[in-house]
Parts: sequence; C-alpha cells; structure tokens
Amino acid sequence: MISDVREAKQKEINEVLKQLDALTRMTGLPVYPEPKTGNPLWSDVRELDLRYQIPVKKISKFFEELKEGKVFATRCSKCGSVYFPPQDDCPRCRSSNLEWKEVQGEGELLTYTVISVKPPSFAHYPDYVVGIANFGDVSVTAWVDGPKEKIRVGAKVKLEVVKREPEGYITYKLILV
Ligand SMILES: [Zn+2]
Repeated sequence: MISDVREAKQKEINEVLKQLDALTRMTGLPVYPEPKTGNPLWSDVRELDLRYQIPVKKISKFFEELKEGKVFATRCSKCGSVYFPPQDDCPRCRSSNLEWKEVQGEGELLTYTVISVKPPSFAHYPDYVVGIANFGDVSVTAWVDGPKEKIRVGAKVKLEVVKREPEGYITYKLILV
C-alpha cells in the first residue's frame, strides 16, 4: 500500500535527517559525502514537500484515451511536428492547431539505461530501465519492461498502458516483444 511505502520512506528520511543534523552541529555545515561516490553533497536543511500541478485541459483527451488503454501523441496541423507527450501548442511554429495521432504497433528501442541511483521521488521503486523508442515519427521515452535477455538497442517494443504501483496510477510502458 502506498501509505506503508510512504511511512517506511519517511522513517528512512527521518533517520538520514537525524544524521545530517548531528553532522551539521559538529561541522557547522550541512555537507556530507554522497554514499555511492563519496563526493561532497550540500543538503538544504529546510524541507520541501512538492506536488506538481500541471494544467492539462487542452490535452485531456490523452488521459481519457489512456483510461481506455490507448496512447496518443499530437501532431501540429501547420508544420507537421509530432509531440509526445502531447503538447497543445507547437513550440516550433507557435500554432495551436493540433491533431491527435494514436501511437501503436511495434517500435524500435533506440537507447536505454538502468536507473539504480534514483531521484528522491522515485527512490521507493526497485531499479528500473528507462528507454527511448521510435514508433514511426513518434519518439517515446518510458520505463522498459519485459524479458531482460531481449533488451538491446534495436529491440522491438510495444507501448502498453499499465498501472504503476504502489501509487496505482495509469501510465504507459515500453514492453520488449
Ligand atoms: Zn508547428
């Protein structure tokens, strides 16, 4: 459950903060060695709780389709540029005339990387793979899943709508086929 994960994470954070407080009192500076590299890291002693809010009114179709298991990109009607995730205005030609285009079929994995050092908001996930795949003229960046032995540059992937746990929100993943 998400509440259990949050609680465990909070405990972990509190422990780190306690150590950081002790270190700051000793040295007068909130600087400590980063565990993996040993490089000095300055840590702000003020805590921020961030929750992003992004206006999505003009691209609400994207979320409606996601609920139906479909993934859509947008294409600028004026200059033909394709955007994924969808954009409601074309940064290239400033047009607000967009059309929807479903991302489907098989794509090709262009590159991937295993994420073992995670940003704090992703720290509760096991190591994951992020990749970029091309579906025709649509380029998709997403987590990659499927049989590990199949992962290589050039591998065939399909885009699948999945539920991300423990949060339980709907998102999309590249699945090795
Ligand atoms: Zn355009």
